[in-house]
Amino acid sequence: MASRSPVVPDETGDPGLAPVTRLPGVGPALAAALGRLGLERVQDLWFHLPLRYEDKTRVAAMADLRVGDRVQVAGVVEAVERGFRYRPQLKVAIGDDAGHSLLLRFFHFRRAQVEQLQPGTRLLCFGEVRQGAHGLEMVHPQYQRMSGDEPVAVEDRLSPIYPTTEGLGQKRLAGVIDKALGLLPDDARLELIPAQLCAEHGLTSLRDALLYVHRPPPDAALSQLVLGRHPAQQRLAFEELLAQHLSLKRMRAAVRRRHAPVLGGDGHLCEAMLAALPFRLTAAQQRVSAEVLADLAQVRPMLRLVQGDVGSGKTVVAALAALAAVEAGWQVALVAPTELLAEQHLRNFRHWLEPLGVEVVWLAGKVTGKARQRALARVAGGAAVTIGTHALMQEGVVFARLGLVIVDEQHRFGVQQRLSLRDKGASADSADVPHQLVLTATPIPRTLAMSAYADLDVSSVDELPPGRTPVQTIAVSNARRAEVIERIHAACGEGRQVYWVCTLIEESEQLRAQAAEAAHAELAATLTDCRVGLIHGRMKPKEKQSVMDAFKAGELAVLVATTVIEVGVDVPNASLMVIENSERLGLAQLHQLRGRVGRGSIASSCVLLYQPPLGGLAKQRLQVMRETGDGFRIAEKDLELRGPGEVLGTRQTGQLAFRIADLARDAHLLPVVQQVGEQMLAAHAEQAGRLMTRWIGAAARYAHA
Ligand code: ADP
Ligand code: MG
Repeated sequence: MASRSPVVPDETGDPGLAPVTRLPGVGPALAAALGRLGLERVQDLWFHLPLRYEDKTRVAAMADLRVGDRVQVAGVVEAVERGFRYRPQLKVAIGDDAGHSLLLRFFHFRRAQVEQLQPGTRLLCFGEVRQGAHGLEMVHPQYQRMSGDEPVAVEDRLSPIYPTTEGLGQKRLAGVIDKALGLLPDDARLELIPAQLCAEHGLTSLRDALLYVHRPPPDAALSQLVLGRHPAQQRLAFEELLAQHLSLKRMRAAVRRRHAPVLGGDGHLCEAMLAALPFRLTAAQQRVSAEVLADLAQVRPMLRLVQGDVGSGKTVVAALAALAAVEAGWQVALVAPTELLAEQHLRNFRHWLEPLGVEVVWLAGKVTGKARQRALARVAGGAAVTIGTHALMQEGVVFARLGLVIVDEQHRFGVQQRLSLRDKGASADSADVPHQLVLTATPIPRTLAMSAYADLDVSSVDELPPGRTPVQTIAVSNARRAEVIERIHAACGEGRQVYWVCTLIEESEQLRAQAAEAAHAELAATLTDCRVGLIHGRMKPKEKQSVMDAFKAGELAVLVATTVIEVGVDVPNASLMVIENSERLGLAQLHQLRGRVGRGSIASSCVLLYQPPLGGLAKQRLQVMRETGDGFRIAEKDLELRGPGEVLGTRQTGQLAFRIADLARDAHLLPVVQQVGEQMLAAHAEQAGRLMTRWIGAAARYAHA
């Protein structure tokens, strides 16, 4: 366009490289909020893609509402009730002309809000329809008041919903992205894949693809976008996979050129730990440990992935690797994706290593102030083993002699974090890098391993320790919820413990927490003679720990949880698990969750509660879960079944490394990704570098610095 650009491009003339503050209306405060999302330059905004879409193009009739729908409804407030039974809550009943009604439920509200919601007020709400105890309801819907005769205004297109952070609302973020899109150059300047390769592989316009996903045209249907298979989405997924593939390839090559400390100890600590264990290693554990120890004794940095089903005993393998490093006089860092999981490792490692005189330091993000200073000093002073979450990767943590990094991915970690840790360097006075061991409970099929883990060698712990009880699994419609609750009642009566898992998929931890609060209130009200606890990601680590401790000690009979319990929880007496809205989860996650029961000698069961009607794929997934408990078979099936269905709707922020690509759905793109990747690395290295920066952003800038 001929009109003057409101933004001064950076020296290279590329408007994408200009800082976000050059956009009109972006001051320091907004820039800081954007920075928390890793959005520093204009192009970061172009590539900050919607997580999903909301359909506010129509208003649903109350009579047609179905559980699970995310819809807009209009109604008049009929009654308002403030309750304090378990915690403050506000219930607002709205109704339509035809006599249908819907309950709106709020757990967090202000007095001004209550005053605004007087009977007779007209409301336009948007939210997810849920089954309440007395009919349909919405928990924390978005809403706006309308004056009496105002016609309902609907949007003319789908509204993109972006990953965001506290303090930055969707409207504001969408507004900035919209401004940034105004600066999107033509394809000739935007495209980094050489024209000839684009033509050869039929790659369509990148500019059109970006505009489509950010501003879907009025005729774009939600059903279509949810699948992630629209050509615009596929075009972007291709490029994202390419960026990631390039980055892994380059990183692997760079690491392999460097040296690592040779960690060949005399085995005295490893032997002492094995002698103290109450069990013998399985053959698989022995084989994988031997592979890892052999790698550690090389001067070439180890880059190894240990995959093994939930409960296959990967932690012992990790502890042996750690001890080998310690024997050789080097430090070990162990990081996990969640605090809960890191704490679990801390407990195991302290239990196994401290009797051998090996120091274990705790350094999670929540360790602050003096305690943090002390921990940092111990790490800098050479403490043997340091355990923590992502915080370990932040700047300011200096190791004296880091020889081995263990990353427990449990399949929700990103590749990027791995890269940045690797860059920590082995010691201040050498160019060496630490060895690296990655643990995952997700068996990685070969095609995917080539892309997502293109940088790693793979070992499999393909055997479970003896004495596990298979978990009997059934699928039950939500219509029979009352029977399921009765079953919980019976289980508690026999002294057994129960997990109730809420799986509301939302972009914010807050909404997930609210869903768990609602389920907790329901169960506490029904199961009056059982103690029901609640745990979710919004609670403080101390609170979480005390709830977990109470559950472990048997003081709580039922634990209502969000998927935070997916990892790291080990309570052998828990023998029943109910997974709410199980139809929404992928096989991998269901399998992970189910792995929390069947850990003791009692016969265990898992109830997959689902909301009918079940779609074809959901039905097949639940069928697979009923048929098998074998993680490898489940992973194979997962790949077969996935494809459509899971994508934009179920991505959870911070859990996947991808913005738009889905390895299972987009596996068909990988062969071309690899071809284009090779050609770019060979002949277009500069563009390859810019492509990585574009998609991997700040993390890549750091890793390549
Ligand atoms: P995961 O591979 O899922 O991380 P863990 O390492 O947490 O599994 O092990 C699960 C449980 O099995 C732990 O309680 C652990 O102590 C136990 N375990 C590990 N190896 C063995 C073994 N060889 N024999 C018996 N129990 C074992
Ligand atoms: Mg584990």
